[in-house]
Amino acid sequence: MSIAQNIAEFQEILKNTNCRLIAVSKTQPNEAILEAYEAGQKVFGENKVQELVSKQETLPADIEWHLIGHLQTNKVKYIAPFVHTIQSVDSLKLLQEIEKQAAKHERGINCLLQIYIAEEESKFGLSPEEAKALLQSEEFKAMQHVNITGVMGIATNTSSETQLRKEFRYLRKCFEELKTIFFPDKAAFKEISMGMSSDYQLAIAEGSTMIRVGSSIFGARNYAK
Ligand SMILES: *Cc1c(COP(=O)(O)O)cnc(C)c1O
Repeated sequence: MSIAQNIAEFQEILKNTNCRLIAVSKTQPNEAILEAYEAGQKVFGENKVQELVSKQETLPADIEWHLIGHLQTNKVKYIAPFVHTIQSVDSLKLLQEIEKQAAKHERGINCLLQIYIAEEESKFGLSPEEAKALLQSEEFKAMQHVNITGVMGIATNTSSETQLRKEFRYLRKCFEELKTIFFPDKAAFKEISMGMSSDYQLAIAEGSTMIRVGSSIFGARNYAK
């Protein structure tokens, strides 16, 4: 199927749900992104700062860009002028730098706290306790430009439905706990970003509000190019 057909299929799947599609365009050429854009997709996710910056410069200005990969503090400045949401906030130090750069550009930046949910060792993220400590800190309370809109998690790369559901439920529970404690009156704290090409159906069933889908839209990635 074509990229446009895949987008249409996701629009159908997500119709009447509370969940949005983040089209993960990493490694994909501008032509592929434009095909998705022309089919109505306006939200795209990238995992590398340099690639995100160069795509943002050349693609339509009304695209909503999400950074979904690990972000180094010294690179925040490159995306601060335009990034809509940083989904991969995993430390207070990073959040402080986002605050500083957002202030410099006099804009707000949406942020998701990346929560560690997988069994695998290599993934970045906070534990629920670390997320609470961050939100309780005086440093966080003083921030004016970062807007915490929810949580994000990357599940274990497994075909076990039991394991995936367990991890998605854990993230949802963490979201609900943070909501109750820190954001009871903040309607904008509403996002649970979970689910990728291989597991988005389960993620939607478990309450995802953002699925991050790459290969099921664009086909397999070619990292060799
Ligand atoms: C690449 C990536 C995705 C999309 O993966 P697919 O399996 O191609 O859908 C989702 N989330 C993150 C954080 C990614 O890096």
